[in-house]
Amino acid sequence: METNLLDKFQGCLLGVAIGDTLGHPFEGKLRSKIYTYFDDFEEFVKKNKYIFRTYTDDTQLTLHLSEALIKGNGFNLDYIIREFVNWLDDPPIGPGYGCISSIRKLKYGVKWEQAASNSGGNGTTMRIAPIGLFYNKDIKALKTAAIKSSIITHSHPAASAGAIVIARAIAFLLEKTPEIGFSTEEFFDVIINSISNSQDDIWEEFIEILNKLKINLDMPIESGLIKFSQAGVKSPYFIEQYLGQAFVHPYTISTVVCSIFIFLKRLSSFKECIFELATAGGDSDTVGAIGGSLAGAYFGLQKIPLDLIKVVKKNNKIMKTSELLYNAFRKRFI
Ligand SMILES: [Mg+2]
Repeated sequence: METNLLDKFQGCLLGVAIGDTLGHPFEGKLRSKIYTYFDDFEEFVKKNKYIFRTYTDDTQLTLHLSEALIKGNGFNLDYIIREFVNWLDDPPIGPGYGCISSIRKLKYGVKWEQAASNSGGNGTTMRIAPIGLFYNKDIKALKTAAIKSSIITHSHPAASAGAIVIARAIAFLLEKTPEIGFSTEEFFDVIINSISNSQDDIWEEFIEILNKLKINLDMPIESGLIKFSQAGVKSPYFIEQYLGQAFVHPYTISTVVCSIFIFLKRLSSFKECIFELATAGGDSDTVGAIGGSLAGAYFGLQKIPLDLIKVVKKNNKIMKTSELLYNAFRKRFI
């Protein structure tokens, strides 16, 4: 069955924005705390619209990266740097240190090789969806673009590996439909393959953790999050007080693994999936954004309830950007 790719492009970028918007109020909170605020999350969102009034840096940078791909007809370093610098005028909402420090340097003309921070934070993966979309038919170019788009701001190997894994997962999910479903085995093969054949220790470790996730998929969400919340995090970066609790660390590997875990556990509907992602605990907005990109690419726009689209500010602009990105993709690949 042919999937409607425009619907999937729109679903994916809106998925980022919805997950980010719903997760933002819970950023930095323990999952056990978050679940004391409501019995029914849907009701809670309806009654507390003012809490969910904006998305954050995750969506902002995703939109800027989309703009750069549209204007540059694909990956073009100058356009990407220009768009990242433009983000400083948005202004940034809840940015990570790795991102903002390097982009400020880019603004003042420092070359990206010197500007990039050594952060392994999830800041490059949270903005990667447009690369997964645009290069979905050319996996080699997808990997190259994912790496290049990461190292401009984050030189740590975990940051580029996370970006590849999520971009590759999006390309995989564009070809699937909820009516038919997909094999989890195949999903893991594809994403693990995307970062295989590297000599890098961190990439190897990432593969080990993904394999561990694969065999622990039947764990309940809460226990799985406790297990993987700080996966791959090294001393002194542990958040000691939250070890053994569900609090997703902003390190790339832990965030990506927890996002994938929740996504795979909640495939029954977009709504269920995004609610679970946005209330993960810890870096909830980014788990919402990354997991939301997967859920949106899988379910597509038609399966996203209107109420959830309306939660997102400037949702029309996101719809339009997705359409322009889709047109640029068509022009280049079809
Ligand atoms: Mg954020």
